[in-house]
Amino acid sequence: MGAATKLETIAQEIAICTDCKLHASRKKAVPGEGPADSVLMFIGEGPGFHENEQGRPFVGAAGRFLEDLLSSIDLKREDVFIGNVVKCRPPANRDPQPEEIQACGNYLERQIVAIDPKVIVTLGRFSMARYFPGARISKIHGQAKEINGRLIVPMYHPAAALHQPSLRKVIEADFSMLPALIEKRDPTSQPDQQTLVDPEQLELF
Ligand code: URA
Repeated sequence: MGAATKLETIAQEIAICTDCKLHASRKKAVPGEGPADSVLMFIGEGPGFHENEQGRPFVGAAGRFLEDLLSSIDLKREDVFIGNVVKCRPPANRDPQPEEIQACGNYLERQIVAIDPKVIVTLGRFSMARYFPGARISKIHGQAKEINGRLIVPMYHPAAALHQPSLRKVIEADFSMLPALIEKRDPTSQPDQQTLVDPEQLELF
């Protein structure tokens, strides 16, 4: 089975999933979207109001900022896979609960295995915790770490930057390192824009 078919199968399972209580209030599940062979994958937190209406990730204000950030490194949302730790909206946009993240974790893991991205950017503390349990985002944002053969780059959630303007520059700076990281991990992707950071200068922790 090819990666696109695997993603489609996973999305169909998510659409009818009842593994946690979030299914009861969902309008549309949000499995995530993007090319099945994405080199770069983003993992956010969970659907909000607009995502629940449309069944698509990051379509509200945070999504527009994410698109701006992608555009700053010459990418479009169609170039990357965008997913979330939970696929159904937590009521009133509350934080996803540990048992909900746990119940949805298998879908996310299967998506990652199917896509096999070279670089994963975690957006916010819930997806960060998947790879860096107990870490503080203020300490490790923008610092890439190799885990199981992939580069994981923790970043602030775009919504945090919308609420706290001082974080905007921080997330913009973290994004500006991505082309060099991608080039380092996947020289064949050859981004056609100028590399903003010398890959040799990048510090991994
Ligand atoms: N939209 C999403 O799909 N995920 C988030 O984490 C925030 C907004």
